[in-house]
Amino acid sequence: MSQLSDLSDPDLRALHERVREEHAAFVKRGLKLNMARGKPAPEQLDLSEALLRLPGEGEHAASDGTDVRNYGGLAGLPETRALFAQILDVDPRNVIVAGNSSLSMMHDHVVFALLKGVPDSPQPWGREPIKFLCPVPGYDRHFSVCEEHGIEMIPVPMDDEGPVMDEVERLVKEDASIKGMWCVPKYSNPTGVVYSPDVVRRLAAMETAAPDFRILWDNAYVVHHLTEERIELTNLVTACAEAGHPNRPLVFASTSKVTFAGGGLAAFTSSRANVDWFVARMSKRMIGPDKVNQLRHAKLLPDLDAVHRLMDAHREILAPKFRTVIETFTAKLSDPRVARWTEPKGGYFISLDLPPGCAKRCAELAKEAGIVMTPAGAAFPYKKDPEDRNLRIAPSFPSAGEVAQAAEGIAVSALVAATEKALADR
Ligand code: PMP
Repeated sequence: MSQLSDLSDPDLRALHERVREEHAAFVKRGLKLNMARGKPAPEQLDLSEALLRLPGEGEHAASDGTDVRNYGGLAGLPETRALFAQILDVDPRNVIVAGNSSLSMMHDHVVFALLKGVPDSPQPWGREPIKFLCPVPGYDRHFSVCEEHGIEMIPVPMDDEGPVMDEVERLVKEDASIKGMWCVPKYSNPTGVVYSPDVVRRLAAMETAAPDFRILWDNAYVVHHLTEERIELTNLVTACAEAGHPNRPLVFASTSKVTFAGGGLAAFTSSRANVDWFVARMSKRMIGPDKVNQLRHAKLLPDLDAVHRLMDAHREILAPKFRTVIETFTAKLSDPRVARWTEPKGGYFISLDLPPGCAKRCAELAKEAGIVMTPAGAAFPYKKDPEDRNLRIAPSFPSAGEVAQAAEGIAVSALVAATEKALADR
């Protein structure tokens, strides 16, 4: 397998000319494709269409007799708490189901902690400058929460096992102003990495200078498999309790990519102390969650088996789109090798690494060809990819045919950007 650097000057120039022509042909086609955000496709939303008829007229009592049409029940219905307890493998008594967005729960946690401090805090987090560790590449909206509220972000590199733990352990041990860490531990956004048992154990056990250090464990893709293998993630709540740090994990999940994105359910679990603390804060901002939506979800998804069946149907729609992107990249970008990409076993994204200095240019060329991508750098704190090499590909929303065209267009744009850079560097 050759590299661009192996090519002679004339061969590199010839390749550049050829891919420029291919790119120009793409531009002429006037395509309009969006590979920017991890949204479910309409056919995926159709899988939960029954929700629009549920719970049904006259069906308004939860299993404990709660009238879901009325106020109250801040922690959620017993059946939806039990469902998320199964999904997350935790005690249902420590699960809260509320609202339609796990991101808003994470955001609220951070804001409440800044204003009031968490159960182990000597003072509110906001009294002094604080920092969060951010494994990179990561989820841009996590980083936006920090940016919005003035929390300094420290990037931490990721490898195939999760965040590089020697670095994480060193940082949290010596700096008491590091109060938190963002993690997407399973089928990570955007790399697809699943944190290894050893990484989870070290996160749970590590010594932190801050007594009120928290791991924001965003398990957004907990049941979102792209292969028949259902990879298991080590349970952080149990690991932290066993390591003597029961209040360290803040675990979030939602059905945004199970049922309806923005019309689903969000859940939080942690230690009893953290759950009580969060419910106490929540009780000041709402009288009760949307329990009608919870009952409707409980009827559609009575147990974990029902969730797995639904996710299998999602997989049948999603997996071919991922395969198309990977096959196109393999055909176009392997020889000469101009990029590396992830082949995730779950989640919503493929992470594409180009030669340094090429990501922005590739996104710009893709845009000229009518393909909207997540902006280069988005997966890094302050939107700054120090090497300008990473792009996030979101193949879920466009149709299979559109994904095929977009993958070609992105590959051609990557080739133009990489050959352009290689020529300039000679
Ligand atoms: N976390 C991650 C890692 C995500 O990728 C997404 C959606 N793109 C969310 C959270 C948003 O979840 P929700 O709809 O529950 O707010």
